[in-house]
Amino acid sequence: MIEANIDLQPHNTLAIPANTAFFARVETLDELREALSFAQQKRLPILPLGGGSNIVLTGDFPGLAIQVGLRGLTIAPSGRGGTIEAAAGEGWHRLVMSSVERGMGGLENLALIPGNVGAAPIQNIGAYGVELCDRFCSLQAMEISTGELHQFSASDCEFAYRDSVFKGRLQDQYIITQVNLRLAEDWQPKVSYPALQQFIEQQGWDCNSLTPAQIAGAVTDVRNSKLPLPDQIPNAGSFFKNPVVNADIYQSLKAQHPDLVAYASGASWKLAAGWLIDRAGWRGRRHEAVGVHHQQALVLVNPGRGSGDAVTGLARAIASDVQDKFGVTLEPEPRYYP
Ligand SMILES: Cc1cc2nc3c(=O)[nH]c(=O)nc-3n(C[C@H](O)[C@H](O)[C@H](O)COP(=O)(O)OP(=O)(O)OC[C@H]3O[C@@H](n4cnc5c(N)ncnc54)[C@H](O)[C@@H]3O)c2cc1C
Repeated sequence: MIEANIDLQPHNTLAIPANTAFFARVETLDELREALSFAQQKRLPILPLGGGSNIVLTGDFPGLAIQVGLRGLTIAPSGRGGTIEAAAGEGWHRLVMSSVERGMGGLENLALIPGNVGAAPIQNIGAYGVELCDRFCSLQAMEISTGELHQFSASDCEFAYRDSVFKGRLQDQYIITQVNLRLAEDWQPKVSYPALQQFIEQQGWDCNSLTPAQIAGAVTDVRNSKLPLPDQIPNAGSFFKNPVVNADIYQSLKAQHPDLVAYASGASWKLAAGWLIDRAGWRGRRHEAVGVHHQQALVLVNPGRGSGDAVTGLARAIASDVQDKFGVTLEPEPRYYP
């Protein structure tokens, strides 16, 4: 059923108050097709919605927001791995924990990332050294203009750091309906991230006999200690991508700031955006309704449930200050609508 003039505040984790002209929750492929043809008849733009944890509403949306509620999760373990077929409306964390509970390894580092399965490929979600593309097999998506279903392989998706073809060349052309993953049978734990390593040492766990469930538990604890929960303090997770720079820029910044936090990424370097924002003096600063989290400078928070303009204004001020101080450009991670 398509409803008119719906408040999207409960549908975005930044809790920004903004209305959508039309709203539909779809639970079957036919309902999705009907919603798309409604939008086509009225020439409305479309906002595909999962959990709303990676969007910034800069004003009212003049189109049709489609909450993708397709359900279905098939898990086939094999050795320490196996295959997973998940409909777009399944919760990402539920998928991770369902695989871990069956002894399957490969997704544990991605535990507790908010949102739904259908959004995971959009920005190739990643955490603690693992990205979706490392476990990805294929996906099914409905073409918005025709209602036809298409299959995409990993190479079709053109995955990169917090990026995919669906944020670039094919933006706004498809709604993802199903994601298929393949987890290797010869699973090996990946716990090289310092915070994860430290947690494991503190627990006294033997690194040679770690299980996927232990690591998922460690990731959950570390994340809970560092990141604010959106239902307590509205936020969209990391607000900026970690800027990727060449070795010359990295060396020059490192010479000026010996404690700069950065990670090698092939021939380039990924600078910790949180470190840059913190060092520029923004951590814990409040601008009326919005602010920068006191523990994690990469997270913009909206405790006063301010407008999208307030959030984007703060983001612009931070990015401009970081540019002035370090000569580095920060790019927002969430997508702005409309
Ligand atoms: C506290 C917190 C921590 C986070 N930590 C991480 C992290 O560690 N790593 C990480 O990568 N991300 C992280 N995120 C960001 C976010 O959780 C992910 O990007 C997640 O995949 C978004 O899912 P969602 O369902 O909420 O998407 P939404 O916010 O609803 O949508 C995000 C984008 O995807 C599009 N979209 C959604 N569903 C579909 C679909 N079915 N088909 C086509 N397009 C669709 C939307 O139109 C929008 O452009 C975090 C966010 C929060 C709030």
